[in-house]
Amino acid sequence: RAVVVAIDGPSGSGKSSVSRRVAERLGLAYLDTGAMYRAATWWALHRGVSLTDGDAVADLVRDMPLVMGVDPREPGVHVDGHDVGEAIRETAISSAVSAVATNLEVRAELGRRQRAEIAAQAASSSFSGGRGIVAEGRDITTVIAPDADVRLLLIASEEARLARRAREVHGSADAAAVEATRDQVVRRDADDSTVSQFLVAADGVVTVDSSELDLEQTVQAVLDVVAR
Ligand code: C5P
Repeated sequence: RAVVVAIDGPSGSGKSSVSRRVAERLGLAYLDTGAMYRAATWWALHRGVSLTDGDAVADLVRDMPLVMGVDPREPGVHVDGHDVGEAIRETAISSAVSAVATNLEVRAELGRRQRAEIAAQAASSSFSGGRGIVAEGRDITTVIAPDADVRLLLIASEEARLARRAREVHGSADAAAVEATRDQVVRRDADDSTVSQFLVAADGVVTVDSSELDLEQTVQAVLDVVAR
């Protein structure tokens, strides 16, 4: 039987690491929808399209040759043959991505691709034999896959989210690193607020708070929800 697991959460909630591991444990495919918005941002900048020209960005994204790897052990991201897995994590992209993600035509196009990938993975056996997918983002439980078998909202206190981002970006969660991260995380939360208004657990969505949990404990908490 196919399983579709939808996981939403804000930046720094740990949802990417958690979702990947959950997919791996369950033998399911994995789709990082945030990476798709990041890839769209990279592509627009790469092609010299101004992010303030919403129509031009939307036109570009409609034809974007994006290939999302769905193996949770190695979820590659390629645009027109470019391996952008690392480039899309850079600060320049993190700062600009909200401008692209709030473009409704971009959301329609990427949403269409996300639904198609989820349907395809639910219909056919994946590389590791399981059938189904773990899809994570901001609007997966509400807009993209509201009828998923399992829907989860992964939250964490601002403190915990800042510490995680600091460790990711600066390799340390000491006071200086946390301060260097604060601006970026708080600003992106604000920029994402039109998307993140969905980040309130909708009916039937289970909330997991990872503030006091390490990665393995959070993975276990999610697997417990999937199993029940
Ligand atoms: O999850 P991640 O931080 O990589 O997402 C990058 C950005 O993509 C978010 O800040 C948000 O603007 C956008 N996003 C979105 N809808 C999703 C996933 C991500 O708008 N489903």
